[in-house]
Amino acid sequence: MPTESQSPHLPFGDNTRAAWYGQDILSVKQFDRADLEYIFGVAHEMRGMVERIGTFDLLKGKILANLFYEPSTRTASSFMAAMQRLGGSVIPINEVKYSSVSKGESLGDTVRSLECYADVIVLRHPEVGSAAIAAEAASKPVLNAGDGVGEHPTQALLDTFTIFEELGEGQIDGMTVTLLGDLKNGRTVHSLARLLTLYDVKLNYVSPDILKMPQEVKDEVAEKGIPQAEFTRLEDVLPETDVLYVTRVQKERFSDPAEYEQVKNAFVITPEIMQSAKDEMIVMHPLPRVGEISTAFDTDPRAAYFRQMEYGLYVRMALLAMVLGKA
Ligand code: ASP
Repeated sequence: MPTESQSPHLPFGDNTRAAWYGQDILSVKQFDRADLEYIFGVAHEMRGMVERIGTFDLLKGKILANLFYEPSTRTASSFMAAMQRLGGSVIPINEVKYSSVSKGESLGDTVRSLECYADVIVLRHPEVGSAAIAAEAASKPVLNAGDGVGEHPTQALLDTFTIFEELGEGQIDGMTVTLLGDLKNGRTVHSLARLLTLYDVKLNYVSPDILKMPQEVKDEVAEKGIPQAEFTRLEDVLPETDVLYVTRVQKERFSDPAEYEQVKNAFVITPEIMQSAKDEMIVMHPLPRVGEISTAFDTDPRAAYFRQMEYGLYVRMALLAMVLGKA
């Protein structure tokens, strides 16, 4: 939506239907703890509704423009499924080479056009800050579905909802969360580390030296007084870990293929490695995985990554309903 200042997306704080109506969702920095409670409450209700009746008419007549400039399986299809389960419909734009973008149209003009037809826009784009640019141009709500190596706020919301539903019983405080893999280029971990600072957690970062968490994220975490520590060996932190969040090495962000080859198999989660982890913990992954979790681990009850995808549907249903003024 159009905004008056450079940093307009302040914490909502005010959790009423009216407060969420028309809002953009651009960064996890927008949220406070009360916002998350509200979102997760709505997501929990969505889960119950889907389990009981599957599809219902809350957003009947509403249209989502799903604008993806980068590949996506889960985010694109879960937003589509979310809209359709709520009775709405979707304009999917995945192959931008078939749209006017390939003719050189600006992002601002593209979203301004799409909002003539749609009530809400979901955007994935390779450039950091693109969602904010789109939101400036649009008067309808824009939801950031990943802006390059920047943020992936709806993923972080579904990740945190997963922790609540799987382990939290309403409580994330006191947990040790270990983020593993490509922490430099993984936008999901940039958003998740920031969002988890709303809780009293301890954060461990395990990565090869060249894929460390960006200083900017570490500074923000430090400012919130959240303990964080960096490691290169998973063994050093696995036994104390409540949530192990595994990420793929982001091949598409490497300019030197030889560098990618050096680190691509830096960590592989196997049943053997997981013997030193707690019984009551979960392993998460935003997916896709390309070898960093062995399929032999999939049958372990602690393997939460496919359940995590399903939680994403409920969170995205909640967000769409909220920004369209129906939850
Ligand atoms: N699907 C996630 C993302 O879009 C994670 C990944 O691609 O590795 O960021």
